[in-house]
Amino acid sequence: MKKVLLINPWIYDFTAYDLWSKPLGLLYIASMLKKFGYSVGFIDCLDKYATGVKPKVKQYGTGKFNRNVIEKPKILKHIPRNYARYGIAESNFIELLQKHSDSDAVLVTSIMTYWYPGVKRVVELVREHLADVPIILGGIYSTIIPEHAEKIIQPDYIITGPGEIKIIRLLSEIFDISLDESKLPQSLDDYPFPDFSLINHLDYLVILTSRGCPYNCSFCAQKMVSMPFCQRSVDNVLAEFEYHYEKFGLKDFAFYDDALFINKKTHIEPILKGLLERNIDVRLHSPNGLFARQIDETLANLMFESNFRTVRLSFETSNLARQKDICSKVNNFDLARAVRNLMDAGYEPQDISAYVIMGLPGQPISEVEQSMEFVHSLGINIRLTSFSPIHRTAEFQRAVNMGYISPHIDPLLTNKSIYPLVDNPDKFEIFRQLRNRAGELNKKIRSN
Ligand code: SF4
Repeated sequence: MKKVLLINPWIYDFTAYDLWSKPLGLLYIASMLKKFGYSVGFIDCLDKYATGVKPKVKQYGTGKFNRNVIEKPKILKHIPRNYARYGIAESNFIELLQKHSDSDAVLVTSIMTYWYPGVKRVVELVREHLADVPIILGGIYSTIIPEHAEKIIQPDYIITGPGEIKIIRLLSEIFDISLDESKLPQSLDDYPFPDFSLINHLDYLVILTSRGCPYNCSFCAQKMVSMPFCQRSVDNVLAEFEYHYEKFGLKDFAFYDDALFINKKTHIEPILKGLLERNIDVRLHSPNGLFARQIDETLANLMFESNFRTVRLSFETSNLARQKDICSKVNNFDLARAVRNLMDAGYEPQDISAYVIMGLPGQPISEVEQSMEFVHSLGINIRLTSFSPIHRTAEFQRAVNMGYISPHIDPLLTNKSIYPLVDNPDKFEIFRQLRNRAGELNKKIRSN
């Protein structure tokens, strides 16, 4: 039996936080590999429990990763902040690699494009300790800029887009194993559930009820990364909830969907009703922005009844022209109505927040301020996020056209923590002030 070692690499960044962060794609692939007769090894560089010391677990299972300050890459030397490797120690990683020295292939995933140094280091160490084992790179970074990944990471193979089926086909080729294509999934319900038993210690679970998103926001890369929008059946989703709830005894589930509320009558509403009917006593969270336009009285009531605890709404801006430019998925009226319905259902103001974006190319500071004031006027929290130009998106191209960045910019300089410095060092201070302002306004909400 061939053995495939799956690796979730380190994060190299100025800041990182475990906000329900699990390598779900790899866990899906692990299940697929097992289904097709492979044995699977797994190294999670972001394992918070690897040191043997119990980490501080915050609300709903979130918390800090282990952090080691490291030398900054040359291109980031001028940034007046510490740069760190988040996750396990390198020595620990090497020990784990040696335990998996019987692997026949290694698959490394990747997430943010500006985290590529963590991927690079993993691949270097695999080359050093598991010589001659083919290395396959997949994930978001390798999908968005495969030419960069090929040059900098130098894996033996690159997989772009959703990986479950592609990896099975590729391994069949590499190992010259005949593949019965009829056994490959035809729909999302055919995918085996992700294999969470590989995770060393779980504090929460994550679930994906759909793939893709019908929108195409100007700053978002999902169209490149995911498959065309499709949803699992309600029964299949509920079966996974039930299975993992019983197996792991955990209450906190975070949805990874990009478009959880699309087709709400046939999707999220029956899912939430099903959880209630089956007495699956969960706390639900959505780190991704929820679509405010879909939150009518019925959905708001169901969310409250089914213990949907973390409610973060997509908003981005109160500027009508910008809303249209981004993709028109939400307007001020939608947000106000959703907030009213949620509060009528029983939510407290501090339970709800809305994302506001700052730093879009050409976006005036006054627009960000007005957007924050609008969100605050609804009595909910502001989640201020910094724009990061993702290669091949419309906003990336706009930033290039406006002369803010070069089309060949090193992904490290697109990091949202430092991107404001790229074209104007003064912006860093302006953004700091905006963050402080958001903090002050949110404090008022908490104290009301
Ligand atoms: S709605 Fe969200 S996931 Fe969909 S395109 Fe917009 S930002 Fe991306």
